[in-house]
Order: sequence, then structure tokens, then C-alpha cells
Amino acid sequence: MQSKNKPAPTKAEREHIERIKAMACAVCWAPGPSEAHEPVQGLWFLSIPLCPDCHRGSHNGIHGLKRMWQLKKMDELVALNETLRKVL
Ligand SMILES: [Zn+2]
Ligand SMILES: [Zn+2]
Repeated sequence: MQSKNKPAPTKAEREHIERIKAMACAVCWAPGPSEAHEPVQGLWFLSIPLCPDCHRGSHNGIHGLKRMWQLKKMDELVALNETLRKVL
């Protein structure tokens, strides 16, 4: 499912993504497996674990109206910080 202009992840990046996907949602704490959201396309080490609703939900998701993000007072950098706190 790679788009053409997006470089394929390296082995280390793939391993990181797998770890991210095994984590709970960084916004609502729904238990994993989660989806990996990239704040910047192709920067895999910035990936954030999100449940489908906080990721792609039209109402709650980061790609939608971000209602859950607003409710939890989260943005991508806060979520990334929480993610790295648990990964490192
Ligand atoms: Zn969530
Ligand atoms: Zn995303």
C-alpha cells in the first residue's frame, strides 16, 4: 500500500512502526493494536499510535473534526511526546 512518491520504510523504521501499532491509542487510551499516524508523510519515527476513531473518525479523528483531540487537550506534538515517553 505504498504510494509512489513515498520512500519505503527501512528495517529499523518498520520495526518502530510495529512497536507503535502495538501500543494503546495516544489520545483516548483505547487498547492496541492501533494505527500509526504520521504527522509528516514519510517521517516514520514521528508515528503516533491512534485508534481508528481518533485517527480517521470523521467527528473525533485527527483527519476529521478532531473533537476527541480537543476534549483531551491533545495535539500531535503532545501525542508524540506521550508516545516517545513510553517507547524510549
Ligand atoms: Zn483513540
Ligand atoms: Zn494519519
